[in-house]
Amino acid sequence: MTDLSTERGLAVELSDLTRVYGEVRALDGLTLHIEPGELVALLGPSGCGKTTALRILAGLDQATSGSVSVGGKDLTRVPANKRDMGMVFQAYSLFPHMTVIDNVAFGLKLRGSDSAARRKRAGDMLDLVGLSEHADRYAHQLSGGQQQRVALARALAVEPSVLLLDEPLSALDAKVRVQLRDEIRRVQLEVGTTTLFVTHDQEEALAVADRVGVMNAGRLEQLAPPAELYSAPATRFVGEFVGLSNRLPADVRDGVAAVLGREVPVLPGSTTGPGRALVRPESVSVVKDAEGAATVTTVMFLGPLSRVTCTLADGTDVVAQLASSDALRLVPGDAVRLEVAPSPVLVVA
Ligand code: ADP
Ligand code: MG
Repeated sequence: MTDLSTERGLAVELSDLTRVYGEVRALDGLTLHIEPGELVALLGPSGCGKTTALRILAGLDQATSGSVSVGGKDLTRVPANKRDMGMVFQAYSLFPHMTVIDNVAFGLKLRGSDSAARRKRAGDMLDLVGLSEHADRYAHQLSGGQQQRVALARALAVEPSVLLLDEPLSALDAKVRVQLRDEIRRVQLEVGTTTLFVTHDQEEALAVADRVGVMNAGRLEQLAPPAELYSAPATRFVGEFVGLSNRLPADVRDGVAAVLGREVPVLPGSTTGPGRALVRPESVSVVKDAEGAATVTTVMFLGPLSRVTCTLADGTDVVAQLASSDALRLVPGDAVRLEVAPSPVLVVA
């Protein structure tokens, strides 16, 4: 098989980037290091600065202050067309009346590679994304998912040192979104290109990335592998934005929180004294108990797992996620005892 990659990825360094638009601080001291060949997902709500960060890395926008380097070279003042980056955006950006292969070869033509070399490389890229048999169709004849695969092939055709993806799946329907997400990751691992993937969809970020950076109001709140982000959120924002959490009354003393009558270790960044523990639904177990202080309010069947909502004596709702075989023994009105798993929790004020 042809070797599809040249350089196995370069390190990317965004240092203390600030971008001010009038009254808005779109970026507020963003520092992010991406390892060579790594895929980092920037995750955060709409307006938190993800696209601004990507555009500044691409050279399509200028930071108010801070610097950008790739492979140890300072690119802060290098124009976009000299930065050697491949990009895929949310909206299909193909030339609709060009064939698929001409779309993929377009960037190579701009770089002056000859016609045979272009066709060969573009053909290899279409192979990589599984679209060889559509090479001579027009772009507008393809589905949305196929068009985004062509856009990915086109971005990679020029062997960019960095691949930038800005919400590339947002316009697709749910099933195609998952397929293409897995495809992007497979291709990225195969070519080894350092990649920044911007998304507001946490499931997408957790599924594709080596590390996920959670952004809030122009800053990076936490950068960690998906499992760590989920099990050990560093801040309240991360704990609440990523995954579903209960906010249970807690009292913290000497690094241990009392939650639902049980002692649980606390994560760094937790408050002391009274607060609210962020507890995942799968960390709550529900035991039928006539003496129990909680009451089942709803049981929602979700397939292998079910979601059971209970109410504490003080009115706090607690959501538990249980195997359906256990959950279906419960009915609204049952008196139950709730227990939290002994995994560490973040306790917020
Ligand atoms: P995201 O991609 O996370 O949704 P953006 O990076 O697009 O967020 O935007 C961050 C903030 O900067 C938003 O408040 C947005 O309105 C503002 N912003 C982005 N681009 C511009 C611009 N060209 N002019 C003025 N404000 C902008
Ligand atoms: Mg955006």
